[in-house]
Amino acid sequence: MEERIYQIAIDGPSGAGKSTIAKKVAAILNIDYIDTGAMYRAIGYQISREGVDMEDASALSSMLSETDVDLHGGKVLLNGEDVSDRIRTPEMSRMASACSALPAVRQKLVELQRAMAKSKSVIMDGRDIGTNVLTDARYKIYLTASVEERARRRYKELLEKGETVTLDEVEADMRQRDYNDSHRQLNPLRKAEDAVEIDSTHMNLEQVVERILEIVGR
Ligand code: C5P
Repeated sequence: MEERIYQIAIDGPSGAGKSTIAKKVAAILNIDYIDTGAMYRAIGYQISREGVDMEDASALSSMLSETDVDLHGGKVLLNGEDVSDRIRTPEMSRMASACSALPAVRQKLVELQRAMAKSKSVIMDGRDIGTNVLTDARYKIYLTASVEERARRRYKELLEKGETVTLDEVEADMRQRDYNDSHRQLNPLRKAEDAVEIDSTHMNLEQVVERILEIVGR
């Protein structure tokens, strides 16, 4: 008999639409959505706000021991403070990418992520969910799209938020993050062997959601 509790892991590069899609699937299946990128962003924000030197292991470790990251009702809480909007800037994307390569940061967040998925059904998105955080997830999806298409989507999003950026800047940034995420030593971005790949370059949101529901048999 299949267990009642199940996990869906979604990995893939920046801008592939993971969080928008995971949120929709979570609502349809009535399960929790865990945005692990938001957790790295929150730590990046704290490092930048407190001026912590990322190369100073002891300063980093003391900051981490005093920092709590939680996700609640779609909000990202940093020591209880709602930082959801402040972590969605190009600068915080870079900070998240930089701090996500630090072993102490990954260790802390992976532990928290596993605890969050322990006793309930979840859909969790990130870069290392299927390969590291939830290796036993019942369903694993690798969601990708061409870098040009991902840059266009992110550019549109940033314009709508009133950010002043150019498409070239967004694409360059995305290529850099792709490189960092897939070349870091610790848990780099890669498709788990048992993940189903979905290339969303020529798919709309609804089609991707449909495909995932098909994969999970709902
Ligand atoms: O998904 P999002 O763009 O919000 O993630 C921000 C950054 O956090 C990524 O570029 C990546 O470097 C890092 N990250 C990670 N592992 C995860 C989720 C995000 O290293 N599971």
